[in-house]
Amino acid sequence: MTYAKPLPVPDPDSAHFWAGCRSHRLLIQRCHACGTHRFPAGPFCPACRSRDTDWIEASGRATVFSWIVVRHPVPREVYQDDVPYVVALVTLEEGPRMATNIVGCPPEAVTAGMPVEVVFDTVTAEIALPRFRPIPAGAR
Ligand SMILES: [Zn+2]
Repeated sequence: MTYAKPLPVPDPDSAHFWAGCRSHRLLIQRCHACGTHRFPAGPFCPACRSRDTDWIEASGRATVFSWIVVRHPVPREVYQDDVPYVVALVTLEEGPRMATNIVGCPPEAVTAGMPVEVVFDTVTAEIALPRFRPIPAGAR
């Protein structure tokens, strides 16, 4: 079956990130010179301008920073079965923020600072999308 929704197109900076997602690992860059973590991937460190970069596997744990609830499917024929859904910014344990979806709970249950963990949604042979779900209170 064809995946009808927009897909990310890996570029030279993000290809390693998407390869990580494909194997269900959340990879982010860490500056080799100053240790700053960054996402999205880029050619140099925004803190110190170094081009010397490592990739690390993030813990996959984050907290909800901000979110919206999408209720109007655009385009309708592609998203009508998904609404309402949550588009969120989460703050990774390592520091960078990531735009994602919150899944695994009703939109009304999302709160600021809510602990979440990454889950990967394999949508094509090439692309697995990182989304986040609440961490149960007993597992925090
Ligand atoms: Zn740096």
